[in-house]
Amino acid sequence: MILPIRALGDPVLKKAAKDVPKEYDGLQELIDNMYETMYNANGVGLAAPQVGISIKLFVADTNVSSKKDEDYEPGMKEAFINPEIVELIGDDVDFEEGCLSIPSITEDVVRPEGVAISYFDRKFKKHLIEVDGLLARVIQHEFDHLEGVLFTDHLSPIKKRLLKSKLDKIRKGKIDPPYPMRFVK
Ligand code: ZN
Repeated sequence: MILPIRALGDPVLKKAAKDVPKEYDGLQELIDNMYETMYNANGVGLAAPQVGISIKLFVADTNVSSKKDEDYEPGMKEAFINPEIVELIGDDVDFEEGCLSIPSITEDVVRPEGVAISYFDRKFKKHLIEVDGLLARVIQHEFDHLEGVLFTDHLSPIKKRLLKSKLDKIRKGKIDPPYPMRFVK
């Protein structure tokens, strides 16, 4: 089932998400719905708060990205439950980011090029992986969502000011997104 994606301005996007207990009701169905919602919107990552559920869960699939090139790690499709960033690795790099909660806006964001992250998969098996390239970027972006941080929060004050009217339009729902969204009235 495709779920409506919460737009910028929704308080759920600014909240710190809670741990997911192993017995969380409907977890498998939620993960399936999040993948469907993400693919429908041509995204490479989607965090549970973006569908209005403030728990520490995000899905990613970097196989479907148009940004993939030979420098990147092989793509990975995975559900990340209760993730923890173990280490940020390497130099800070610029990378153009967008967000399904902030349609049609993309900006360069500076982040470390690699990341080590521990998490549980959808079967609650624990993993520790070290990645770089696109996947590291997606993971850092989605992990931010679980802490109530959006990529626009990383932009300089000048860039934020330049984007203000566009962002206000999204907050007010004065846009026509190409996938189902929910705006705060
Ligand atoms: Zn996002």
